[in-house]
Amino acid sequence: MDHKNNTQQVVTRFAPSPTGFMHIGGVRTALFAYLLAKKEGGTFILRIEDTDKNREVEGSIKHIQESLKWLGLDWDYGPDNPGEFDSCLQSDRLDTYKKYAEKLIAKGLAYPDPYTKEELEAFREQAQKDNRPFLYRQHRPDNPGEWDGTQPLRFKVPEIKRYEWTDLVRGKLSAGEEMLDDIIIIKADGYPTYNFAHIIDDFEMGVTHVMRGEEFISSTPKFLSLYDALEIEYPLFVTLPPIMGPDGKKKLSKRDGAKDLLEYRSDGYLPEAMRNFLALIGWNPGGNDEIFRDKELIEKFSLDKIQKSGGAFNEEKLKWMNKEYLKTLSPEEKATYVSSVTPSTFKLSGEFADQRVNSLHDLALERASNFNEIKGAIEAGEYDWLNTDIQYTTDLLQWKNDDDVTAALPRLQQALNLLEAADFSSPDTIKEALWPFAEEVGKGELLWPLRVALSGRQQSPDPFTLAYILGREMTISRVKQACDKIGE
Ligand code: GLU
Repeated sequence: MDHKNNTQQVVTRFAPSPTGFMHIGGVRTALFAYLLAKKEGGTFILRIEDTDKNREVEGSIKHIQESLKWLGLDWDYGPDNPGEFDSCLQSDRLDTYKKYAEKLIAKGLAYPDPYTKEELEAFREQAQKDNRPFLYRQHRPDNPGEWDGTQPLRFKVPEIKRYEWTDLVRGKLSAGEEMLDDIIIIKADGYPTYNFAHIIDDFEMGVTHVMRGEEFISSTPKFLSLYDALEIEYPLFVTLPPIMGPDGKKKLSKRDGAKDLLEYRSDGYLPEAMRNFLALIGWNPGGNDEIFRDKELIEKFSLDKIQKSGGAFNEEKLKWMNKEYLKTLSPEEKATYVSSVTPSTFKLSGEFADQRVNSLHDLALERASNFNEIKGAIEAGEYDWLNTDIQYTTDLLQWKNDDDVTAALPRLQQALNLLEAADFSSPDTIKEALWPFAEEVGKGELLWPLRVALSGRQQSPDPFTLAYILGREMTISRVKQACDKIGE
């Protein structure tokens, strides 16, 4: 058999098993399959491989769909819209697998497994004792009889040979005899195995590019022997590089912070950022650009830029990327984002209240890249200056070059005069009112005590931003409070 040629309309698929968790590796596979289909004007299919009823977790199918939708990977055909296929759920397609199984029986290439569990176990134990791999074909029964649908149906692998095939990422691959066996194609419960079902579905759905992880390479000879027996053309194989932990050495694990995709949503990662970040794990279009928005990712995507070797999952990079995307949100979107974590903290009233709140949102997003970081900053007291009362000791007002805190008093008094006459419509107008005086007396000499007067903290945003967000009234009252403290 030959591989499909490259001139057909591209059809890709993501074929998860509904086992409950949308791990990053699976999501990245879905993304690449989606990007290739969209780039080539082709079709992207979501197929649910639910043939192992013992591993199925309730709610998974919904979870998978919600995850892909959130990431913006809309499928052309899927469980909710199978289109011309009768279903995109393997459990609905048992008759189809049976039809293909019967074809193999008719060709003398499938037979029922007559052994009991105990007999099989004994064969396995013997192989272990003899220090050789267990191969069912060495126990192929002479007279298996007719398949009545209740026994497992096995493939009678016709030829034990070495297979060679081409992988569009890895190049020429080969594997052989040791992988070929009389594998089960239909289980005793009537469901097909993955090995069998995915081949039939990929064929019937016209899948041109089978994109998946490297764990399937070693099984490929099995698949190829089945394609041959079924007289089905091989699809194009695209093996995606593994996702490594941040050190690039070990495979990504939960310990490296790998979470279910939707947990990233609840942590405040934007789907565009997540998509951009995942696309760059194991793919790189070259050049220094790393931000590819919307359609750009699709336009840039190409198979020849998929790497062979593993790509690192670096959470710091994800944070950086999320920040880049957060910056581009509209004021309304920023408000929705920030206020989902700060329902009661970031409330302001008075003149320019709406603009001041926007400025507060900008400030929060300059300093944090996700919900947890905003929450953490609030818990660490970084926004306590928004409270009506602030507490600090008078000596904090002392600038490091001054001998005594009283040196700050005349400067704060003059600042008070300037602030009373200042235009409070933006941090810049406030700065304009104070700047000539700061240059006259020394920047640290004025700005340090002023900033402490407004925030009560060693570290905080600059005094102009603080004054703007706090508003004229609060600013003036805080500077007065500082003057009173020094005077006491
Ligand atoms: N159901 C398989 C899995 O979740 C799909 C593998 C494939 O893409 O062929 O691992």
